[in-house]
Amino acid sequence: MAGRKTATQQTGPGVAGLGLRRIFVRLESARPWQAVAVAAALSAAIAWLAHGWSERIFLEETRERARAALDVYTQGLDGALRKYEVVPALLARRAEVLDLFRHHGDGRAVARANRLTEEVNRTADAEDVYFMAPDGMTFAASNWAAERPFVGKNFSYRPYFRDAMAGKLGRYFALGTTSNKRGYYFAYPVRDGEEALGAVVVKMNVDRIEQALASGKDEVIVTDANGVVFIASKPDWRFKTLGPLSPEALAEIGRNRQYPVELLSTLELKRPADESGFDLIEVAAAKDGDRPAGTVEYLIEAKHMPTAGWTVHILAGTGWARSQVTTTVAISLLVCLLAILLLAVVAQRRRRLVERIELQASAAAQLERQVRERTADLSESNLRLGAEVAERKATEAALRQTQSELVQAGKLAALGQMSAAISHEFNQPLAAIRSYADNAAQLIDRGRDEEARANCDRIRDLTERVAEIGKHLSAFARKPRSESGPVAFNAVIDDTLAFLRGRIGQAGAAVDLDRPSQDLYVQAGSVRLQQVLTNLLLNALDAMEGAPGAGSKRIEIALREGDGQVRMTVRDHGPGIPADAVGQVFDPFFTTKEVGKGLGLGLSISYNIVKDFGGGLTADNHPGGGAVFTLTLPAYRPEPAREAAE
Ligand code: ADP
Repeated sequence: MAGRKTATQQTGPGVAGLGLRRIFVRLESARPWQAVAVAAALSAAIAWLAHGWSERIFLEETRERARAALDVYTQGLDGALRKYEVVPALLARRAEVLDLFRHHGDGRAVARANRLTEEVNRTADAEDVYFMAPDGMTFAASNWAAERPFVGKNFSYRPYFRDAMAGKLGRYFALGTTSNKRGYYFAYPVRDGEEALGAVVVKMNVDRIEQALASGKDEVIVTDANGVVFIASKPDWRFKTLGPLSPEALAEIGRNRQYPVELLSTLELKRPADESGFDLIEVAAAKDGDRPAGTVEYLIEAKHMPTAGWTVHILAGTGWARSQVTTTVAISLLVCLLAILLLAVVAQRRRRLVERIELQASAAAQLERQVRERTADLSESNLRLGAEVAERKATEAALRQTQSELVQAGKLAALGQMSAAISHEFNQPLAAIRSYADNAAQLIDRGRDEEARANCDRIRDLTERVAEIGKHLSAFARKPRSESGPVAFNAVIDDTLAFLRGRIGQAGAAVDLDRPSQDLYVQAGSVRLQQVLTNLLLNALDAMEGAPGAGSKRIEIALREGDGQVRMTVRDHGPGIPADAVGQVFDPFFTTKEVGKGLGLGLSISYNIVKDFGGGLTADNHPGGGAVFTLTLPAYRPEPAREAAE
């Protein structure tokens, strides 16, 4: 976790940014169970904090509201009490009342007193108004005409009477022993100088006050000094005590007949241990409509009213505050979870980003490495290629050297061959010439002139043969493409046949001529073309030399024109060219003839002559036997003015 470094981790402007980044880095590297544990702990802490905070806020609001309501209630109660507390004092001071008290044994006075109390009671809107004699006997009452009048009843046990007789305003709350109605009693003494003649008592109706209290949304109870509930917005709570009563308190209640002791019971309430500073109680509640039986929690606020001697309690239900707390906790948890989710998403995104950056960096590094490797490979192969090129150049130079050496060697070999052939060709006639010359000299010495002359003739023939060989050889030294022009092919053929007539006749051969009637012209030199044709015909005659009958010795000459070419074929009926020699017949000095008969130069020279004319010469064997030589030359369209130049 700590060892992990990212690009973003190393830079950062603020402390807050650094802190947030640390959180992200920690989140990124956390394991799932760790993240879940942290999220749960965080949620629990948030829930706990939100609960404490919102409970304080909402209970405080409830308390504020309760306090305000309590003020309103106490002021209302105070007002009601003040309204009634003045009535007995005002009444007691009236002379008429004093007079009635002085004569409370008199029936007429009592009747007047009854009417007066009745009138005052109606006017003051009180529960009861009555006059009590010094012994506690009620001698007149506003309910004198009712079913159970107070008249004739002795209430001397009531503390308010004792207080009044002691010269004070008596106040007291009690359940009426005669009326069985709860009431608040005010009693004021009627004095005649220092002597107390009795007390005027006004009983205030509590039911109406209670009804007003019950109309609010909070529960309100009013307790006396002993903690007995005598006014309650909830009727069930009447005469319940907030705590167990002491025996003295119970005895006093019994003595004063304030409430029937058997009615009193303790209100089932619990004060949960609460450190929030709020006075909370839980009261057992019976099943009420849809609400199940259980306990109801209240926030209790109390205010003591010293003059009345009671305490007003307001019990504000905490349901609203609790539901607000629940909502707040839920919202906080939701926000917390959302924040955690957001954090997780951001952390995940950040991790992906970091991973992508790392991946890109590693890809870039890999690419760089590959480029470096390729570059190294390339420069290596470049070097190799350079070396190869140098090697090839050296090889090429060596080859050229070898080639030129070979050419030189070939040339020398050819020269050697040629020299051997030439010397062979020359030596024969030279030897014959020498022997003929020697013979001729001897014959002359012997006087045989005729024979000597014959030898001289032979010597002349032989020199002509040597000259002939020299002429042939000079053809190799000849400049190519000497002058040429349009030549009539027929004329060349006719001249050649005429030239060789003797030889053909001697051989006993026949010549078949197949040619078109009109003249065919070619671009050539007529003498050289004749030389070529002569060579072909002589070769044919040589080939057929050994043929058995005269009829089988036949040479076929065919002349054709087509595609701008004039083609002539010369076929004989000899044995043909040996198969392995077909490709060599045009090589210089290639001959199959015996020594002295052929030089092997005829076809070679002919080939070069035809090439010079821009034509071609090929050799082949005819399927029907014998050799076929084909001569092709470019055709020439003759102009009448121009004839053969050569
Ligand atoms: P030479 O006639 O002096 O031998 P050529 O160059 O004229 O020289 O001919 C070369 C060779 O070609 C001949 O020796 C022969 O073997 C072959 N040749 C030429 N013409 C014919 C032919 N008509 N029939 C068979 N062989 C031939």
